[in-house]
Amino acid sequence: MPGELFAVELIEPGPAGPPVLPASVVPLPEEALASWLLRYAAPFGIAPEPLLLGDAEAALAADPDWWRNPDPLIVAAIAGATGISANVILAMSFASWCELGRDDGVPDRFARQRFISPKPLLRARHIGICPACLSDDEEPYIRRDWTLTWAACCSIHRTALVRVCPECGGKLRLRSLKSREFFTADRCGRCSAHLACVPVRLVPEAVVELQRRLIQGRVAGEIVLPELGVISWPVAVALFDALLGIVWLDTRPKSREQFFARIEKDLCCDPLGDAADSAAAITILAWMLEDWPNHMHVATATLRAVRPRRQMQRWPHLVPEVRSKIERILFSAWPDERHPQNRAWWREWIDTLPETGAELRRQAACERIPHRRARLLALADVRDGMPVEAAAEVAQIIPRTLYNWLRHGAEGGLDAALERPRWEYLTELQTKELIDWIAATPPNGPRWRCNRVANEAVRRFGVEITAHVAARLLRRYGPWPRHRPKPKRRLTVAPVYD
Ligand SMILES: [Zn+2]
Ligand SMILES: [Zn+2]
Repeated sequence: MPGELFAVELIEPGPAGPPVLPASVVPLPEEALASWLLRYAAPFGIAPEPLLLGDAEAALAADPDWWRNPDPLIVAAIAGATGISANVILAMSFASWCELGRDDGVPDRFARQRFISPKPLLRARHIGICPACLSDDEEPYIRRDWTLTWAACCSIHRTALVRVCPECGGKLRLRSLKSREFFTADRCGRCSAHLACVPVRLVPEAVVELQRRLIQGRVAGEIVLPELGVISWPVAVALFDALLGIVWLDTRPKSREQFFARIEKDLCCDPLGDAADSAAAITILAWMLEDWPNHMHVATATLRAVRPRRQMQRWPHLVPEVRSKIERILFSAWPDERHPQNRAWWREWIDTLPETGAELRRQAACERIPHRRARLLALADVRDGMPVEAAAEVAQIIPRTLYNWLRHGAEGGLDAALERPRWEYLTELQTKELIDWIAATPPNGPRWRCNRVANEAVRRFGVEITAHVAARLLRRYGPWPRHRPKPKRRLTVAPVYD
């Protein structure tokens, strides 16, 4: 008898004594508020909203999804009319969830759709159902967690939620609370197909576990991921976006096929398919997080995806603190994007430089050689505590160049930081000699590599030239046909979703 579960709440007396509910319409375990309201109103032949809400409350219920996070006035009105306590009503909504965001309500939040369409389809009320749960029910009803658009499975039966009616192909939706049509939770709203008999698919344990963690963590707003520790929900959403972006953005169908085949083999799950929904997304994430960071490396390699640092350029709208957390997670998982232990070892040099920022700037003002002046100004900014990235931007150079100057300074003192590398000292005559030597090679021989030129410069003149300069000499004066430059790979920026 399901009513017994809520017997305690039912005792609570209202001012005029609680109305006695027929046993068939008491809230059932884990039920969604909307489902209960529909069941409650069904025998009256009136839609739940006009039945239970006055004019004032109806104005607050303009959003058809209001029941996810109901206004206290609405809760009070429903409690008064039905005799069910406010706490029980609130427990059927997501009101206790920390920062209930649109992330939980946007259709297909983690599905491929999110990455390729500029705007979410704002058709809410899509739900998934567990046929096994419905067939166990004496009185069929919709569970609250089935209304999460990113939910993948039923945690009791470990089956994939069914989101599409197998008879008519329509997406399953929760009926509107303004609708007076008779509501039965176990029937398709379009064709009345019986949903409790739909065949079920089992989902991998890892998927059940990840979904359990996500739902459990939503109350506190923090998700515990065994490999990554505790992360807040906004960071988790951005991280999942970034990880799924590796899969969906600028990858070839063939690579994705190969990648999915690996997941299907590892998790022994059904084919993920290229039009993946949120359930497939949770499966992909569960696999990626399972053997972190190895699986992410496999993903990037199999999908021939760009490296994390470039991946992050897809998400220009992220708030800085979320971005820095995502970057820390992704870059620390990536051996050559991770900063070495002795990173910023030059920091001590610049911080303890006898010249202050102002003095470096004064020195720059008297400096006649342009490249020395530019370096003095950039170093002055870092000396004053400006981050290297910002100082590089002011100097209109890439950060790596400024890091090189700092490194040279820390190794050889301020003057070393101001000087250009020694290749600048190839005299005109020496350069001409190298050019003649390069141009004299027979054109049908193998193409030279730049280190051959660099070694020759050291051998002939004792001057080190960079690979970049050597390559430029070869390109310009070598007798070989020119390489056509490779077009830069496209980088799709993800659509903004909030
Ligand atoms: Zn179930
Ligand atoms: Zn149907």
